[in-house]
Amino acid sequence: MFWQGWYSKMRRAKIVVTLGPATSKKKIIAQLIENGVNVFRLNFSHGDHKTHASNIKKIRKASKKTGIEVAILQDISGPKVRIGEIDGVLKLKKSDIVILSKEADDKNDKLLDISYPDIIDMVNVGEEVFFSDGTIRTVVVDKKNDRLYLELLTDGELTSHKGVNFPKTKITISAITKKDEEDLKFGASQDIDIVALSFVQTAQDIQKAKKILKKIDFNPMIVAKIETGMALENLNSIMSESHGVMVARGDLGAEFGVTKLPRIQKRIIAAANRANKPVITATQMLTSMKENPFPTRAEVSDIANAVYDGSDAVMLSDETAVGSYPIQAVQVLHDSIKDVEKEYPYVKEFMPENSSDAVAKAAVQLASSLKKEALVAFTTSGYSAKALSRYRPQVNIYAISHSLKTHRQLNLVWGVQPLFVMKESDNPSKLLYDFVHKIIEEKYIDISKRFVLTMGSATGKKGSTNFIRLLDKESMKSVLKYRF
Ligand code: PGA
Ligand code: MN
Repeated sequence: MFWQGWYSKMRRAKIVVTLGPATSKKKIIAQLIENGVNVFRLNFSHGDHKTHASNIKKIRKASKKTGIEVAILQDISGPKVRIGEIDGVLKLKKSDIVILSKEADDKNDKLLDISYPDIIDMVNVGEEVFFSDGTIRTVVVDKKNDRLYLELLTDGELTSHKGVNFPKTKITISAITKKDEEDLKFGASQDIDIVALSFVQTAQDIQKAKKILKKIDFNPMIVAKIETGMALENLNSIMSESHGVMVARGDLGAEFGVTKLPRIQKRIIAAANRANKPVITATQMLTSMKENPFPTRAEVSDIANAVYDGSDAVMLSDETAVGSYPIQAVQVLHDSIKDVEKEYPYVKEFMPENSSDAVAKAAVQLASSLKKEALVAFTTSGYSAKALSRYRPQVNIYAISHSLKTHRQLNLVWGVQPLFVMKESDNPSKLLYDFVHKIIEEKYIDISKRFVLTMGSATGKKGSTNFIRLLDKESMKSVLKYRF
């Protein structure tokens, strides 16, 4: 029976993998799900809608086949700045000057054009411009006639379409491009579960995305990718406007330099934990496994530390999109996380945000001191399950959702095991009856175990959780006495 396999893959920190040519087969997707993947990321910087639609179909089919619901995350590309065409390789030396121009029309091999020419107006003399993931560093020494004159601070080689980062520049270009808008509409038509927004700078960027989504009557979970200096400065306001964040170490590392990443990662994760927003730690977690079946010690250590830091989820990119060992990479993630969870600092202290949150905190303490099997949360929006997760209980959190969308989205939340979808009711006794009936009937969970259950008397209303109940075999029997 499927839940036996599901139980063995149960893990508190979640796994997000990027789907790509290496993994776009239904059979492989099913294998990835069976190996514990919780969320599939579709990278809209690559691929057309037809390919994405076909992958979405395969994920949903594989999900049905395995009996395990997973979430689909649509990662929209945002205004990633790239240089244009270069003939072959441009070899550069320290102190050389290259020119960023709105138009690279004259034949000068040191003249580069970029995908968002208007950015040139926003950059000032003295600011830095980085190329190729931050490996080629330059500083603006002059600006005239719609051109930026950049002095090389390093040697390096440039080829076509390499990424450009402006770590100190206030870029006012919208984080949602025309292409992104089309992609969002497509995502809505495919009923995806989570949207990740790239290169957001301010909370207004998230508001803009929300406005577009509202117009098309679509309500996915929104994850803000923190990948620029500006986004880090505006972390708190971005966090309060979005449903979750990503530590996007690729572009963050390009903007800040890789040696600052561990501290930035810890800072973003701590802020997300405090704000009760799921946080994904991403990029180069198992890069060596693109070509090798085994990870390096340092990579495994990085995974473990991301989990210790408080990540809700860790993510694979190229490793599963184009790598040679996608299944093995997921196995390594799973095993590493499971080992961390043997000695994890469970039960974290936070000030409750509101009364529902205080109920969640009390339920976690109750479940911990009574050594119960699990916490059970009845949830419409997912809020009450997230509230339990915030306190990082050692016991499992089973979420009984009232919507399939929430059920899938909770795959991103630390410690929450979305159990099944059950009809909403404003009568707590009926909910209890339906729950006990279902777990006994379908043997979902072992009823000899004991649970701490939370729910709100007005389901569907955020902040209405006002009920804690201890359930054991005897009390479950008594619940079933009153038929509904
Ligand atoms: P990307 O985002 O893979 O879309 O660039 C993640 C990152 O920058 O780390
Ligand atoms: Mn990025």
